[in-house]
Amino acid sequence: MKKLTTFTLLMISFFAAAQQETIDQKVNALLKKMTIEEKIGQLNQYTGDNAATGPITINSNKQAEIKAGLIGSMLNVVGTKYTRQYQELAMQSRLKIPLLFGQDVIHGYKTTFPLPLAEAASWDLPAIELAARVAATEASASGIHWTFAPMVDIGRDPRWGRVMEGAGEDTYLGSKIAYARVKGFQGNKLGDLNSVMACVKHFAAYGAAVGGRDYNSVDMSERMLWETYLPPFKAALDAGAATFMNSFNDINGIPATGNAYLQRDILKGKWNFQGFVVSDWGSIGEMVAHGYSKDLKAAALSAITAGSDMDMESNAYRYNLAELVKEGKVSIALIDDAVKRILRKKYELGLFDDPYKYSDDKRAEKALNNPEHRKAALEVAQKSIVLLKNDNQTLPISKSVKTIAFIGPMVKEYKENMGFWSVELPEVDYSKWIVSQWDGLQNKVGKNTKLLYAKGCEVEGDNKAGFAEAVATAKQADVVVLSIGEKRDMSGEAKSRSNLHLPGVQEDLVKAIQATGKPVVVLINAGRPLVFNWTADNVPAIVYTWWLGTEAGNAIADVLFGDYNPSGKLPMTFPREVGQIPIYYNHYSTGRPAKNESETNYVSAYIDLKNSPKYAFGHGLSYTKFNYSNLKLSSTKIKSNETIKVSFQLSNVGKVAGEEVVQLYLKDKFGSVVRPVLELKDFQKIKLNAGESKTIEFTIDKEKLSFYNSKLEWIAEPGDFEVMIGASSADIKLKSDFELQ
Ligand code: BGC
Repeated sequence: MKKLTTFTLLMISFFAAAQQETIDQKVNALLKKMTIEEKIGQLNQYTGDNAATGPITINSNKQAEIKAGLIGSMLNVVGTKYTRQYQELAMQSRLKIPLLFGQDVIHGYKTTFPLPLAEAASWDLPAIELAARVAATEASASGIHWTFAPMVDIGRDPRWGRVMEGAGEDTYLGSKIAYARVKGFQGNKLGDLNSVMACVKHFAAYGAAVGGRDYNSVDMSERMLWETYLPPFKAALDAGAATFMNSFNDINGIPATGNAYLQRDILKGKWNFQGFVVSDWGSIGEMVAHGYSKDLKAAALSAITAGSDMDMESNAYRYNLAELVKEGKVSIALIDDAVKRILRKKYELGLFDDPYKYSDDKRAEKALNNPEHRKAALEVAQKSIVLLKNDNQTLPISKSVKTIAFIGPMVKEYKENMGFWSVELPEVDYSKWIVSQWDGLQNKVGKNTKLLYAKGCEVEGDNKAGFAEAVATAKQADVVVLSIGEKRDMSGEAKSRSNLHLPGVQEDLVKAIQATGKPVVVLINAGRPLVFNWTADNVPAIVYTWWLGTEAGNAIADVLFGDYNPSGKLPMTFPREVGQIPIYYNHYSTGRPAKNESETNYVSAYIDLKNSPKYAFGHGLSYTKFNYSNLKLSSTKIKSNETIKVSFQLSNVGKVAGEEVVQLYLKDKFGSVVRPVLELKDFQKIKLNAGESKTIEFTIDKEKLSFYNSKLEWIAEPGDFEVMIGASSADIKLKSDFELQ
């Protein structure tokens, strides 16, 4: 391809600027025509009757409000037909300002991808971007303009049910994934047919709720906020995220929705965010229950002043803003700013040119039945699976095995595989659309293999009546695969749990099956790290499958039989017991670290439990073996404007091809504030054939050595560092020291 000259590049940016200018001009011209009611109208978002429940009739009040230009956006209206129906009403309004349709397209639209947390376990950024791209392609053909994703909240507490929706506990990995997801949803630019606006949520620190109880208060230092919780938001913004959503929690006493420091000073100030902020569902109104706002009117005042542009479902702006303007408490300039931010996006999406642009039956028909999308869902599902344990090479199962018993409450489920936060379309028969785990295994095994089934028990409850049949079935088999875990609606919003053990009598079922003496493989389906110590200590093979979506059964079968060599690594630490939570790998050093696991007196440890996790952040096995050797540093002393090249050799010393996520950790040995025991600073996913070796190289620069000091300055302090190359945060293979001068 011919190289672009500087002149051409200048012209391109000139035209881009000119186009932006025309949008601004159009927005300003439109604004001039708008009454105060119409302006406030743009700031309101309401829910439709979720199409999942069947055909909708728009209630007459809503119809009138839309026609009067009093509603700017709808959520939970999906499909070409219904979005069209609503948009037709908006087109009857005086100024014909199109409605914006938002939806929680969290991990797929019709084609469901693995849970976001599961996808994070792939550590595969192109795959994660692809999943978002496919979701955007399907959703944008079905009338959706805007997804309420990605959720980029750091989750260090698996009791919090929403960890399933994020990228786990680590800031570095979380930031990379946030960036990839925004790129995937938004594509090259807003207005392209296959793009939807991203909405980065929940701003901010929602994941740090006290006790892991959803919606709970957050109390954290500024340093913690900046160092751990804000970077993924910044990364999403750098990727061009069009919108942000604020959050339900209060942070250091101020609800995020009414938090001017977060939304005005940081987001729209320091970070110069030009898009708009939507409140979370009813979060403006919730400031009353928080004990922060006296009434809905006071809540509206706090929210708009703090920079919340759009009111999702609180009815706070709708009925109070005009009066607040009249009383001089809210300036018209404040309203105009919010309106402009929203109108700009409607223009950028091309809705003023064609309000039905994204409600296209033909395009939807094609997008929703594109075999490439299923292929992508399968690939991402394979990559999301984590092999936790594989003693005696129990896995992969030989294809010539005569009889397999497939046991457990998840085996024949369909919709369960979709997990929480999935879009359910009324026209889809999910028992045909989803590959159940049973179907997947059946598709895979040859004619000479017999597949037996027993349910064993339900996920919840204490009924063991099915155990006898399950044991008898296991006894007839050469190998047993047991599929257990949470139900899909046990992790998600408002799904905090105090007990993370395998629910019901499932672990007893594992014991009963293990007692048959047959080789047992356990599949654990869940939206969060669970606690399953007996299983972990006694069963030879454990596969963490999370919830994998449309292609779940095929992906699982591929891994069980070795047609796909698992490569996933945990994006969250798995605790031994709930009492250890919050437990995360990048904790600070204490003055009393335990030197070994049995040391409990006068050190920072429990007297009744080891400090280490059950499975560490970054852990995940493969059917092959990787060898790490020959660590080299280009220098062991650098100045802050210099870089170090770190190289080592990675060899596949096993018998099959495989992928390894090599992880670069750093430790700042001492600092003006205490530093984590180790921190992920880079990673690469490397594919090697059996017997193949490769030199892997990382670069360490000042950015990787920097942190927020007590004055909140982002700095790299001179001193000693340790660089570690690991297969997980607890499995460091190579290390060396260097000095920043
Ligand atoms: C959730 C958001 C979601 C919104 C709209 C809220 O309850 O916290 O993440 O986008 O509902 O469904």
